Amino acid sequence: YVKERGRAGYRFFKEEMNSSFANDALLESHLRRAIELNELVVFYQPQVDLRSNQINSFEALLRWNNPTFGFVSPANFIPIAEESGLILQIGDWVLEQVCKQLRDWQNKGFRQVRIAVNISPKQFKTECFAKKVGDMLKKYGIHSSSLEVEITESAMTNTSETLNILKELKNIGVVISIDDFGTGYSSLSYLKRYPIDIIKIDQTFIRDIELDEKNAAIAKTIIQLAHNLGLEVVAEGVEKNQEVDFLKGVNCQKAQGYFFSRPIPIHEIVENYMN
Ligand code: C2E
Ligand code: MG
Ligand code: MG
Ligand code: MG
Repeated sequence: YVKERGRAGYRFFKEEMNSSFANDALLESHLRRAIELNELVVFYQPQVDLRSNQINSFEALLRWNNPTFGFVSPANFIPIAEESGLILQIGDWVLEQVCKQLRDWQNKGFRQVRIAVNISPKQFKTECFAKKVGDMLKKYGIHSSSLEVEITESAMTNTSETLNILKELKNIGVVISIDDFGTGYSSLSYLKRYPIDIIKIDQTFIRDIELDEKNAAIAKTIIQLAHNLGLEVVAEGVEKNQEVDFLKGVNCQKAQGYFFSRPIPIHEIVENYMN
């Protein structure tokens, strides 16, 4: 009986692996051509200043619309892009789209607006990443403080390499934020060591914050920590009115989430609200 179960379990496991591998390989081969086929598009999600209710910044979020697979979530294709190395090409493309968008807004007189771009750990650690960022800003004549780079804790390894890249980015003048704060395994000492500007509180800590005492305690502590370190703080994944009220009550500066807006294509952004 045990043997039978074992075999069945084994077979099941293997099939699962195979099908997931085949699917990944197929996705990867399609992803390889996504840029040239114009299947990628950048959406933008507004970040709201909770004191002024103004929108002065957006997060760029990548979308992939493929004729075979339909809409593929970045949660599914970014890991594949990361493993295959395609993320480097994709990351460059996103960075360029964002700079073009900033150029367009600046031409229209919106000079204060900032866009945050997600940087994958692999992209972050490539040779001359900071130089690439600097060159792209120059190419489009963008002031460096209009660009924010979002880096997750997993990329904040305790190495001189990480420190050097962050220092270079800081010298260029781009804004540096930590994405999904509190969900990685890194030590807090990087907050001391690295030139960080913004902490983004992960959405798991924002969920039902007005009822969930543990989330409330964690979020309040992170906000206090950010204030004490002189950092800006953004709450991610805000979905409810009650969450907004709570965040205002504990002096969280900025919030982002479906309550205000989902990530939207550029033509849906009402520019009148910007400055
Ligand atoms: P992230 O950077 O933490 O982005 C936040 C995610 O939360 C986005 O998912 C966003 O659509 C979603 N979100 C925003 N507000 C809410 C809310 O109120 N409720 C809920 N449930 N979700 C909300 P998305 O767009 O699917 O992206 C997933 C992840 O994929 C991102 O997490 C980021 O890590 C990665 N990603 C997206 N675009 C890029 C990119 O251009 N480059 C890289 N390297 N990674 C990207
Ligand atoms: Mg992000
Ligand atoms: Mg995040
Ligand atoms: Mg995330």
